[in-house]
Amino acid sequence: MAKWQQRRSFWTWGYESDEPSDAERKAMAKQVSQRLGREVVPPPVPAIDQIELRAPRLKVPDAMPWVSSEHAERVLHTHGGHSLELLAGLRGEFPEPPDAVAHPRTEDELEATLAWCDTHRYAAIPYGGGTTVVWGVSVPESADAAVTIDLDHLSQVLEIDEISRAVRVQAGMLGPDLEDALRPAGLTLRHFPQSFPWSTVGGWVATRSGGHYATNHTHIDDFVESTRMLTPAGWWESRRLPGSGAGPSPDRLVIGSEGILGIISECWLRVQKRPKFRATAGVVFSSWETAYTATRHIVQAKLWPANLRLLDPLEARQAAGLDGAQALLIIGFESSDVPQDAFMREAVGIARDHGGAIDDADIRIDDGSGKATGREGAVGAWRNAFIGVNAGTTNGLGLLNDTFETAVTWDHWPEFDAHVRAEVGRALNDTLGAGHTLSCRFTHVYPDGPAPYYSFGGVVPLGSELALWREIKAAAVEAVVGAGGTVTHHHAVGRLHAEGWAKQRPALFGEVLRAAKRTLDPNGILNPGVLLDEGN
Ligand SMILES: Cc1cc2nc3c(=O)[nH]c(=O)nc-3n(C[C@H](O)[C@H](O)[C@H](O)COP(=O)(O)OP(=O)(O)OC[C@H]3O[C@@H](n4cnc5c(N)ncnc54)[C@H](O)[C@@H]3O)c2cc1C
Repeated sequence: MAKWQQRRSFWTWGYESDEPSDAERKAMAKQVSQRLGREVVPPPVPAIDQIELRAPRLKVPDAMPWVSSEHAERVLHTHGGHSLELLAGLRGEFPEPPDAVAHPRTEDELEATLAWCDTHRYAAIPYGGGTTVVWGVSVPESADAAVTIDLDHLSQVLEIDEISRAVRVQAGMLGPDLEDALRPAGLTLRHFPQSFPWSTVGGWVATRSGGHYATNHTHIDDFVESTRMLTPAGWWESRRLPGSGAGPSPDRLVIGSEGILGIISECWLRVQKRPKFRATAGVVFSSWETAYTATRHIVQAKLWPANLRLLDPLEARQAAGLDGAQALLIIGFESSDVPQDAFMREAVGIARDHGGAIDDADIRIDDGSGKATGREGAVGAWRNAFIGVNAGTTNGLGLLNDTFETAVTWDHWPEFDAHVRAEVGRALNDTLGAGHTLSCRFTHVYPDGPAPYYSFGGVVPLGSELALWREIKAAAVEAVVGAGGTVTHHHAVGRLHAEGWAKQRPALFGEVLRAAKRTLDPNGILNPGVLLDEGN
């Protein structure tokens, strides 16, 4: 069923059909109560029509039937996908709803919507799947009125070029729908952010998303061949080219523009043949240090594994049942044409040279026949834990869990990790107390450095989640940017990271981006506060 035929949940990730039942929420609350030694009960879920919203501050013209100020529409487009936004949803907190939501079905309707917003100076918020975790689709308090422009009806594959291996696709298409459309031609994009089921092509391009085939082609940047974007100043369309040395790339300004320069309506993406040959292995290390050193040697050997994911001892225990001292390196290779066992044996050989342990029987090889040999072991356990994203059962029980991600060059790495753990650990002690957790994995690895992804968690008094989280988040941004990392590797900047991003980019680059925005969006209606906040 297409996205627009289902209704999204306003308090958990995914659709209403993904919402946990009362029984599941109660069972989770019982587990949490046992852990905390006091009773916690799941808060009631408000009925959507009981949620209070301020009255719309604009009137939708009759000539625009694809725009409405209907109550449920405004509720469902108020928050993005951060767990604290889902918590606000569960608590019925919707202080800044959009005044109207548009679902343009054609580019003409998209143009009419943006022109209407521009004429009246309504803030225009482009909306893909709404999975942003950086407040990218929120209505800013400063707006006098705001219209969310949901691309969900612009969600078709328009053309497949099998010769050049590229697809022309509209921005509102969801990940699974795109893969379904490519499958009959034996093609795939193979861009799998963890939010893949609920996020869109336009959202990926707008946020420079990172997929989880993580050392080779992984960023949407690598797949974009050309873009088509509507700005208040007119259309912006780039030429399809396999490569070009002609000056700065127009696509590079679109990719990562997070809806502040225009609304991406479609793009050409490079696709590939579906993989058939595969190899996977989980290598165990006695320490974090030996594990990340081995990882560096593997990635620098330029074997280009499709996946090289390292879990620190705490993560390896939680996700794959290791003993709490050992780290786990997951290695994956895949190809449509070439057997992968030789590459895997090279990578495992390097891992073993640096202290890694794995039985040959735990190397799983699919020789293209679809029948794999070898055990899956820890890798299977990890995969199930990774795919099973669900914020619904624990929402509102007083558990605070979040992540922050970055990237840094190898020469800085061990000191960087020690610094981040010390600084964020201190903030966690001050806010969540002694029982907190802080762990790390590499979601992506490059020859010149890793992309570490830190997770933290603990127990908080009900009602204090947002305030305590802000303290922890501020310490994390300070530690990461202060020690030479990036404020985000793939979660985007949004409103959340605007200040941190201003500290890491060249000051003149900020000026150039502002100037570009003034040219394309002279009235400043598109996504105010995203990327460039008032003071930055
Ligand atoms: C559980 C979970 C897991 C996640 N895992 C990953 C991950 O593995 N990798 C990763 O990169 N991210 C991840 N994210 C973050 C998020 O999914 C990505 O940023 C994703 O690319 C957003 O896509 P979307 O379609 O949901 O966009 P939205 O959330 O709707 O929008 C994101 C931003 O892009 C703008 N925008 C959306 N569509 C357009 C358009 N057509 N034109 C112009 N601007 C537009 C919006 O205004 C907003 O600022 C995760 C989020 C969640 C909740």
